[in-house]
Amino acid sequence: MPHSDSTTISSPPQTTVPSPPPERDRGGWLRFAPVQPLFRARAAQRLAVLAYHGVTDPSSFGAQLDRLRRLATPVSLQAVERAISEGRPLPPRSVLITFDDADRTVLTHALPALAARRIPAAAFVIAELIGTDRPFWWHEAAFLARHGGQARSLPSHGRPEQLLARLKALPDPDRRRSLHELRVSAYRRPPCQEQLGPDDLRALRAAQVAIGNHTLGHPCLSRCDDSTVHAEIAGAHLALTQWLGEAPTAFAYPNGGFDPRADSVLRQLGYRLGFLSDHRLGPRLPAHPLRISRLQVDSTTSTRRFDTILSGLEPAVQRWRGRPGTD
Ligand SMILES: [Zn+2]
Repeated sequence: MPHSDSTTISSPPQTTVPSPPPERDRGGWLRFAPVQPLFRARAAQRLAVLAYHGVTDPSSFGAQLDRLRRLATPVSLQAVERAISEGRPLPPRSVLITFDDADRTVLTHALPALAARRIPAAAFVIAELIGTDRPFWWHEAAFLARHGGQARSLPSHGRPEQLLARLKALPDPDRRRSLHELRVSAYRRPPCQEQLGPDDLRALRAAQVAIGNHTLGHPCLSRCDDSTVHAEIAGAHLALTQWLGEAPTAFAYPNGGFDPRADSVLRQLGYRLGFLSDHRLGPRLPAHPLRISRLQVDSTTSTRRFDTILSGLEPAVQRWRGRPGTD
């Protein structure tokens, strides 16, 4: 599932979910599979970095955090950096919580749950959206296409997921042009989406949620030319440095895939950690600090399914089925 960008405009955050969708427990039966204890034992010697997006179900998210407090050792971004710089592996069952795109639910729903349990985390933000009310581009494109929007490079009657896949596959200038064409041809404008502001970023950081770079505008880096790759990372780096008063040291690849040109820009700018979305556990002492594996999770995931993701069993089954996450 690429990056778990939903193809619909987010509904307002819910505080309760009366009837959880079946998705949340999909594969939950694996928790009772005979190999689950073996996977759990092996996972104890690995680093689990969880990649969330927003938090739509605070009570389910709270249950997941309680589970982590019982079964794992939550660690901070700084602890991962320190382990690497000292060459000392993190404690067994270490788990780092991260959020990509960081919509407002990270502040309103995730932060109180994390703070109540004293669990640190990291949020990777799209710099050009900070302080705006602009929706994520993939939400905007899906909305515009549903409301009469058309673009030369896009099928006129494709399903939303086909539209998104097509947009992500285009060279970046064509993606931008297609978005423009969708905007001028649709008969409705997409709803606003209030984003985090600079003050919110500082509040998150003060509450042990480190802020990281997720580029300026969240393009697919593999579809960008060299100068755009540089501008997307360096521009976000500059903006975050100004807002936070210190340079960010961690980066999450938009859409989760590694890009060697991005790697070189990150090294020049002094980044110490880079995160993928490959749905894997990694070593307790990351061998490639700018290519750290992450597991895809969601706040609505049932605790049964959550356990099998944390153990690495569910990701292994996904790979056997030929669905190896984002990469
Ligand atoms: Zn993202």
